[in-house]
Amino acid sequence: MLYIGSHVGFTKNEQLLGSVKEALSYGSNTFMFYTGAPQNTARSVIDDDLTKKAFELMKDNNIDSSKVIVHAPYIINLCNEEKFDFSCSFLIEEVKRVEKLGIKYLVLHPGSHVGLGIDKGISNIILGLKKVFESTDSDVTILLETMAGKGTEIGRNLEEINTIITGVNNKKLGVCLDTCHLHDSGYDLKDFDSFLDEFNHVIGINKIKCIHINDSKNIIGSHKDRHENIGFGNIGFDTLINIIYNERLKEIPKILETPYVDREYPPYKYEIEMIKKKEFNKNLINEIKNQ
Ligand code: FE
Ligand code: FE
Ligand code: ZN
Repeated sequence: MLYIGSHVGFTKNEQLLGSVKEALSYGSNTFMFYTGAPQNTARSVIDDDLTKKAFELMKDNNIDSSKVIVHAPYIINLCNEEKFDFSCSFLIEEVKRVEKLGIKYLVLHPGSHVGLGIDKGISNIILGLKKVFESTDSDVTILLETMAGKGTEIGRNLEEINTIITGVNNKKLGVCLDTCHLHDSGYDLKDFDSFLDEFNHVIGINKIKCIHINDSKNIIGSHKDRHENIGFGNIGFDTLINIIYNERLKEIPKILETPYVDREYPPYKYEIEMIKKKEFNKNLINEIKNQ
């Protein structure tokens, strides 16, 4: 079964119920959201009544809630020593919020070492994650996202991700692939099965619990991290379709984080349609603008 969805909003008034409604409006059967603005710490109190209604709506529409994903805010940086205590405590709070919402997976950017160096950065991430797991007792699995290697980002190759996973040594730690990030960090996704073989060799394929499906505005190895709409970038439609329909990842939720057209129109309904048809529509952007 194909599990496909996109990034959706999470508002103060409707919370998870609003997220489910937005996902359904795109024809999705999974989705991902931030529990508040990704760039600040303002978080509304979780309303259990809205959560209950959201789960009923998911059930009525065959959305498997165990495939739904939360993305941790990117202000968390476990590498940065000045922000370390803040990042740990905010991540602990976030894990608790995710658990209260009944969601199983929380995607986290490993962090940026901002001059400390890769080794120190990685050891800080390991310390932070250990602290988070010690301070929470939940079923929430934290998924380290593969990064583009922009600036001093850690997690730009499978070896770095594996060092963290091995160092933390907790079964509640997994991986979220991001196709744009993998491409920008230098992985050729054209032969995706070879990539999965390599992943399986370095980390273990069973650690993959989510995939962000994005095309890339830049060439392979550019370390830029600028997402493009499906089929309109340097990864290309056929390669992305091959990834989406790969047999080894068929149970894994696929989440679009592609840009809004003209910063105004969400592309997800159209991109999901195109993915389900497996046929590239080169007029998609115009069709979205003229909807
Ligand atoms: Fe991300
Ligand atoms: Fe991503
Ligand atoms: Zn990105």
